[in-house]
Amino acid sequence: MLDNLTQRLAKAVKTMRGEARLTESNTAEMLREVRLALLEADVALPAVREFIARVKERAMGQDVIGSLTPGQALVGVVQRELAVLMGADLGPEASQLNFATQPPAIILMAGLQGAGKTTTVGKLAKYLREQKKKKVLTVSADVYRPAAIGQLQTVTEQVGADFFPSQPTDKPVDIALAALDHAKRHYHDVLIIDTAGRLGIDEAMMQEISALHAAVKPIETLFVVDAMLGQDAINTAKAFSDALPLTGVVLTKLDGDSRGGAALSVRHVTGKPIKFAGVAEKMDGLEAFDPARMADRILG
Ligand code: GDP
Repeated sequence: MLDNLTQRLAKAVKTMRGEARLTESNTAEMLREVRLALLEADVALPAVREFIARVKERAMGQDVIGSLTPGQALVGVVQRELAVLMGADLGPEASQLNFATQPPAIILMAGLQGAGKTTTVGKLAKYLREQKKKKVLTVSADVYRPAAIGQLQTVTEQVGADFFPSQPTDKPVDIALAALDHAKRHYHDVLIIDTAGRLGIDEAMMQEISALHAAVKPIETLFVVDAMLGQDAINTAKAFSDALPLTGVVLTKLDGDSRGGAALSVRHVTGKPIKFAGVAEKMDGLEAFDPARMADRILG
């Protein structure tokens, strides 16, 4: 991931030998390389600008200690600031789900079709059951894709959680309210609501998910986004975060050949923490998102 950044940094490190401190002039070339690599990786321009400014601020005047070369010292700053860009400043609690509510805690999933919502519902249900010992109910409010309800049933049964059946002829809000009523009567700790996704953002879809949000008032509204999408992911993230009070992001398909731009921009664009990363298709392919580890991965 972000191979170009690693390569460009390595190249710049070589040109910066023999200086005792990081200065405006000896870091300029390297920062230019970093900026290009980030833009090539489809990181949103405002995020790139802020990132470069922060790296510059942190690096200037810094003494180069011990056996480090100035280039290596600057790589260290870049690595720490990459982690901050992805939410390291929020602390480890940022990836935790919030359960501080009268049960059931409702989790609403939002995102485009194909982002990985249904798969993530299965993974989350497994994680919550096994790691958090929660009794989980899932429901699909996707009444447009006939296969969607069946797909959710399959993954839910696969992980041993409970499934609330819905009909494509029902209205999404009615489905969600019926599932909530069922969850209350059967003492579920968590209700996860899968929603319809479209191929692109459209008004009707946003209105529908806003109405769902208003009807059930979820404690968590998670925006699921495909890390392979690049610049499109940024536009989608912006549209969803303008329309809905998101509480976090799930970045899927990080195991794929991702250019990394989404991982680096989505926190900046939404202002919300990345809570989980999808790292495989299978049901145990979900990890709590760790910005520092991600920054390590990016820089190889
Ligand atoms: P939805 O339309 O948003 O509900 O998306 P789906 O859950 O149906 O996922 C779309 C495709 O992406 C499926 O083939 C999933 O198996 C795949 N997928 C989802 N998450 C991941 C992931 O983290 N890694 C990989 N490799 N594939 C994933």
